[in-house]
Amino acid sequence: MNDIEKTIAALNRKGFHAVYVKDADEARAYVLSVVGDDEAVGVGGSMTLNETGIVDALYERGNTVYSTTLAKKLGLDADKARRDGVSADVYLSSSNAITLDGDLINIDGYGNRVTAMAYGPKKVIVVAGRNKLTKDPMTAVTRIKEIACPLNARRLGLNLPCAVTGKCNECSSPQRMCNVTMRIQYPASGKEFHVVLIDGDFGY
Ligand code: SF4
Repeated sequence: MNDIEKTIAALNRKGFHAVYVKDADEARAYVLSVVGDDEAVGVGGSMTLNETGIVDALYERGNTVYSTTLAKKLGLDADKARRDGVSADVYLSSSNAITLDGDLINIDGYGNRVTAMAYGPKKVIVVAGRNKLTKDPMTAVTRIKEIACPLNARRLGLNLPCAVTGKCNECSSPQRMCNVTMRIQYPASGKEFHVVLIDGDFGY
């Protein structure tokens, strides 16, 4: 088995609905098939979701979408979108890392994304590329601090040490992005939790 197959098997053993898709088109089609036309969708900030066009497709179909990226584009209140997203019908996100044993590891600045993945919307859909797969939780955190955070900090124009040097120095900046770390080992009770693994590299 390759790493994607191992991870999907581990996730399904633990009660996630994990599926393999070969590209962004299949990922988008899967998400549109499991989100009802009338369901409101909260969205965690994610390059993967932008690159795959999933958020745009939901919005164009007529779903109510609570996304900070979309809110900013439409001149709406991004903080309200963040708050409304946590109590939507569905939560859509990527994951900073997924271990081969099927753990989802995420680090948040605001905490809205990890809250929604653990509690809140009854249906959660995580979409991630194969580049997010890591051996174990420690490797996952290292990956997030050394790859995801510096790139996100630069993208957002934040004045953080990792944005400048590419390395984490466990800063205490007011703009710090690493405030809440969460490891989801099994879906929280009562949740329908989908994980869509794309056979390609998306986001970071
Ligand atoms: S703790 Fe600070 S320096 Fe380290 S990755 Fe997070 S934001 Fe960057």
